[in-house]
Amino acid sequence: MNVTPDLKPLGLPRQELEQLFAGLGEKPFRARQLMRWMYGRGVLDPAAMTDLSGALRETLARRADFSLPLIDTLQESADGTTKWRLAAGAGQLIETVFIPEEGRGTLCVSSQVGCALDCSFCATGRQGFNRNLTAAEIIGQVVLANRELGLLAGRSRITNVVFMGMGEPLANFRALVQACSVLIDDLGFQLSRRRVTVSTSGLVPQIRKLAQETNAALAVSLHAPDDALRDVLVPINRRHPIAELLDACWDYAAATNAVGITFEYVMLAGVNDSEAQARALAKLLVNRPAKVNLIPFNPFPGSGYRRSTPEALSRFRQVLLEAGIMTITRRTRGDDIDAACGQLAGQVSNRVRVALGDKLHEIRWQA
Ligand code: SAH
Ligand code: SF4
Repeated sequence: MNVTPDLKPLGLPRQELEQLFAGLGEKPFRARQLMRWMYGRGVLDPAAMTDLSGALRETLARRADFSLPLIDTLQESADGTTKWRLAAGAGQLIETVFIPEEGRGTLCVSSQVGCALDCSFCATGRQGFNRNLTAAEIIGQVVLANRELGLLAGRSRITNVVFMGMGEPLANFRALVQACSVLIDDLGFQLSRRRVTVSTSGLVPQIRKLAQETNAALAVSLHAPDDALRDVLVPINRRHPIAELLDACWDYAAATNAVGITFEYVMLAGVNDSEAQARALAKLLVNRPAKVNLIPFNPFPGSGYRRSTPEALSRFRQVLLEAGIMTITRRTRGDDIDAACGQLAGQVSNRVRVALGDKLHEIRWQA
């Protein structure tokens, strides 16, 4: 007899998985065994989980949903970057990107189908928002990529996970926290908290809440040194201006004992890349637990922006370095397959464009 799966173990934090097993009359160690299968070995077929009792295997086979997102297309860049376009149901597509580098491999995961925050330079924002991904869909991206990539010298090739794909992770708070828990857990993906990075455009209340729920690394998309410009580039700034955002960042660093907050700054020619703007940025961050990641703008059709020249970029960086702020320039990877930051567009059907006021209502509701 076939029944619709009512158990969803994938992406559940250890405690919640133990509760799921308690509901089945099983001991907590069964949850730990299942986690080892799903994440340690990438096995999602209960029949192959040989240390579970026959009855439990049978229950899981009948009632548990272990399905992964389906691969729609796979693209590989000349530089080794791999992008999967994944079906998230009902004609919706999301994207996951693997970026191999010397000594590490970073998986960039999506947290939503589309994004409602409408930053003016972002392809995902242009698409509008469709829906939040579940923790199973977020963790499913990691399981899938692990499987596809295979092991390197017996180890997973994924050493870092960054929430820099499609969507605003803090607008999908509960699923994000669940996913972080699985990524960091010794029975999950065993990543140190410094190797899991949540990138946000600046949802202040959720940054404050995040500090109570996880101690993952935080990256904040700043992009402008003053409110007038940031209001235009990152519209959420109208609700949570820079001073309020930075306060939340310093509190996050203190509460989580973080080495520092990473500030992302997309370099837009003639918009935010002058030396005066670099000095204003330095003033905001000097003597704080902060480092800056300068991102060359990745163009997409109709964006209306241009990438800063290498000279402007290096002058900007120099000002920050002279102020004692650790600053790196992110190398653009995978731009030949539109896999670079801000180029992930996927496909959003039934798109909803929400006015800022309405959207904020929805964000509060999510949290
Ligand atoms: N929503 C989150 C995370 C996803 S975006 C956030 O905004 O932080 C990941 C990073 O890509 C952010 O820093 C974002 O500002 C940046 N980004 C967006 N569009 C870009 C583009 N066209 N070129 C370069 N970076 C871009
Ligand atoms: Fe959303 Fe981030 Fe893109 Fe802004 S930059 S629209 S928050 S995905």
